[in-house]
Amino acid sequence: MSTTTGADTALDLDAIERRFTADPIPDCRVCHAELEVASMGGGRATEYACPRPYAAGFARLGSPEWKAQSEHYGRSKYTHFRSGDSEVLALVAEVRRLRPRVITGDVEAVTAALDGLPVGSIITTDVDIEWGGDVFHRTQFPNALPTWYLAGGSKSVRSEDIARHQVPITVLREGVGA
Ligand SMILES: [Zn+2]
Repeated sequence: MSTTTGADTALDLDAIERRFTADPIPDCRVCHAELEVASMGGGRATEYACPRPYAAGFARLGSPEWKAQSEHYGRSKYTHFRSGDSEVLALVAEVRRLRPRVITGDVEAVTAALDGLPVGSIITTDVDIEWGGDVFHRTQFPNALPTWYLAGGSKSVRSEDIARHQVPITVLREGVGA
């Protein structure tokens, strides 16, 4: 059976994910309070600032308290340039889920990877191994642990039984859970 690994496409999903992941909003660098939105909209990056300096009102202009307030406020200002895009991140996750990927590694690692695949997943070992087939479905029956079933067959196969053949395994579909 021939498969594509997805590696031949030009999309760098990791790079896209990094670009559209929001930078975390830091705490106030003066007092570590949670910053609040100071200004937003108008197509500009959202500005954050510490709410504490002016929480009790404005001190008299030019007084030491006023100076401390404006210094605290000024130093706390943070411009959130990268606010991310959760829809793009969801799209990246969906592409990852649908894109065939290859599992390789030692028996233990492959077993763990196979056990980690949700029910509904479909894999192929690319070559027919002892079961006379190469496509397996992750299945779970009531009151039983998830297991692999050879496509078109009724034989249940454990992850380690597949892994010990040490052949590349292509995930054709990552399941969506039970
Ligand atoms: Zn502060």
